[in-house]
Amino acid sequence: MSTVTTDICIIGAGPVGLFAVFEAGLLKMKCHVIDALPQVGGQLSEIYPKKPIYDIPGFPFILAGELVTNLMEQIKPFHPTFTLGERVETLDKQEDGSFRVVSSEGTEIFCKVVVIAGGLGSFEPRKPAIENLTDYEGGKGVNYMILDPEHYRDKRVVLAGGGDSALDWAIFLADVAKELTLVHRGTTFRGAPESAARVTSLSEEGHMNLLLKANVTEVHGDGQLSAVTIVPDGAEPYTLETDYFIPLFGLVPKLGPLENWGLELEKSAIVVNTVDYSTNIEGVYAIGDINTYPGKLKLILCGFHEAALMAQSAYSLIYPDKKFVLKYTTVNGVPTM
Ligand SMILES: Cc1cc2nc3c(=O)[nH]c(=O)nc-3n(C[C@H](O)[C@H](O)[C@H](O)COP(=O)(O)OP(=O)(O)OC[C@H]3O[C@@H](n4cnc5c(N)ncnc54)[C@H](O)[C@@H]3O)c2cc1C
Repeated sequence: MSTVTTDICIIGAGPVGLFAVFEAGLLKMKCHVIDALPQVGGQLSEIYPKKPIYDIPGFPFILAGELVTNLMEQIKPFHPTFTLGERVETLDKQEDGSFRVVSSEGTEIFCKVVVIAGGLGSFEPRKPAIENLTDYEGGKGVNYMILDPEHYRDKRVVLAGGGDSALDWAIFLADVAKELTLVHRGTTFRGAPESAARVTSLSEEGHMNLLLKANVTEVHGDGQLSAVTIVPDGAEPYTLETDYFIPLFGLVPKLGPLENWGLELEKSAIVVNTVDYSTNIEGVYAIGDINTYPGKLKLILCGFHEAALMAQSAYSLIYPDKKFVLKYTTVNGVPTM
């Protein structure tokens, strides 16, 4: 649990949130960026990091993952700070007009302006249908994301899933966990063939257990997870003792907590004024895929444009006595902070 004080809190570290740091930085406003995912890049990192994008101005094509790397490089001069792997739960306007933003882990961000760059909403884990699974969430043995692999050093871990995330983490944790089991309901994997081959050889070499055509159907423990029930196709169920059960079945976007922040919404998006992409709450802006207005296009370049207009409006709010003057970067370069 930590406290951050900044000029602008940006909710969402997708491409538009990251570029907003740049536009704010040009006007010497400090940003803190918070994202529910453990990595930056939003949809580009989570859904299509290896796909080429062809409609970023100045790049005939660029891999989505490379665009995220470049955006991170571009904002370096402004030293943004990040909270990753924490979802913003509440947004409160204080008496003096500033804001208090609080995350799922209790991190508090005090800021003058809030920019919601939340894309399709926060990605939430797809959970298996196991009756009492939620009893073991929140540090009691069931996790849906791996934030710090060191957390699992010398522990017994059961992973479930057949996509890239399950395979990649199985390969990584094979060296870290005391005992690793990957349970997959199919016989073939959806993830990259080379990762599937690596998992198979790690299992053959005895570095992990690979259970195909099997499902985890129950979780057990007394307050803390201690075992799971595994049902192999056509065989008797059995109990496997474990410290952690981590189903990695992908993430689904949900609008999530921002539905309750008093924002004007239309079809799961935040209504904005296209003059500056402000919302119905003064001091709160919405840019990128999360907003809606007549003619809205859910494209990265449109989000970049929205970030530029948002920044100059936020500047007028934060510095009401200073006049905003557009300065070309070709003339002034990138200011240092
Ligand atoms: C397969 C695919 C291909 C695409 N190809 C193109 C293309 O060629 N060109 C193009 O321009 N666009 C393309 N898009 C669309 C493009 O990816 C989106 O327009 C872009 O990602 C929007 O960026 P964003 O920053 O607004 O949101 P996102 O990238 O969705 O990022 C939003 C972030 O906000 C976080 N968040 C949301 N709510 C919270 C909360 N409460 N607390 C903390 N964090 C939160 C989410 O975790 C997420 O990381 C494509 C999309 C897909 C799925």
